[in-house]
Amino acid sequence: PFELKGKSVYVAGHRGMVGSALVRRLEREGVKLVTVDRREVDLCNQAAVFDWFAKMRPQVVFLAAAKVGGIVANNTLRAEFIYDNIAIAANVIQAAHRSGAEKLMFFGSSCIYPKLAPQPLREDSVLTGPLEPTNEPYAIAKIAGVKMAEAYRSQYGCDFISVMPTNLYGPGDNYHPELSHVVAALIRRFHEAKVAGAESVVVWGTGTPRREFLYVDDMADACVHLMKTYSGAELVNIGTGEDITIAEFARVVAEVVGYRGAFSFDTSRPDGTPRKLLDVSRLERLGWRATTSLEEGLKRAYEAYQAGTLAPA
Ligand code: GDP
Repeated sequence: PFELKGKSVYVAGHRGMVGSALVRRLEREGVKLVTVDRREVDLCNQAAVFDWFAKMRPQVVFLAAAKVGGIVANNTLRAEFIYDNIAIAANVIQAAHRSGAEKLMFFGSSCIYPKLAPQPLREDSVLTGPLEPTNEPYAIAKIAGVKMAEAYRSQYGCDFISVMPTNLYGPGDNYHPELSHVVAALIRRFHEAKVAGAESVVVWGTGTPRREFLYVDDMADACVHLMKTYSGAELVNIGTGEDITIAEFARVVAEVVGYRGAFSFDTSRPDGTPRKLLDVSRLERLGWRATTSLEEGLKRAYEAYQAGTLAPA
């Protein structure tokens, strides 16, 4: 297995939900953690990234920096999503190669799979059909990153691997009412409805799309496991292997938050892809399985949300 202990490990995107979960998880690994603030090094700036890598020479890189958002953010900030994500992937992967990093993990996303690919989504269905239009720019950028990691492995022999997380949630999520993902959006909306004593809450779309949700600390654990034990050109999906309709999911969130009113569906809002469930058989063969139930994960996410909203400004 690949040794992490004692190595300098750079987490790109350490303030994000995924990066901060990786930082929490890596604290148990005896690594020399390296992070850098966005104000100091803008990952879209090639020269800044190359200079920083030449100076710091991290041995291991978790490339968890990305411009992310929910269905509305992806669909409206289309130029920003493709530009920022291609620039971040291109700059960091090339810099890691140039500075001689021993290993790098690139984070893709389950939205890189074709909209109508067979479910559960297998790793080999990448590039077999058209993408979901609402997040095509983001998906194209992530596919570029995956293909870069693969190309650097084949041409230069770099030990660069790619993982494909399913929809993630947990502490550090973005709770923007319009731009967030469904988990954060519903935690916030149900919480505010409970506090206000409202009798109805709006859920977007028809409620029929199916999604898989993974608690971010489980995801970080899977990543550390794969960093230590996996080396190969094939992608690895990271998920729970179970999905749920948005309508059922809304019921679970309402229960966890303690909101007892009704909810209605706003069908003028997009549904996005009908189903997004990852095939996790490769991950399970590699020796990892999710352990946090949706109820437990949502409880912890809700606690973190409340702690954040109650924290002094
Ligand atoms: P997606 O998985 O890329 O489609 O991203 P989202 O997490 O934004 O949306 C997942 C599903 O939840 C879609 O079918 C949305 O229509 C639905 N959804 C229901 N209510 C909301 C909401 O308040 N915000 C968001 N972002 N999605 C919602």
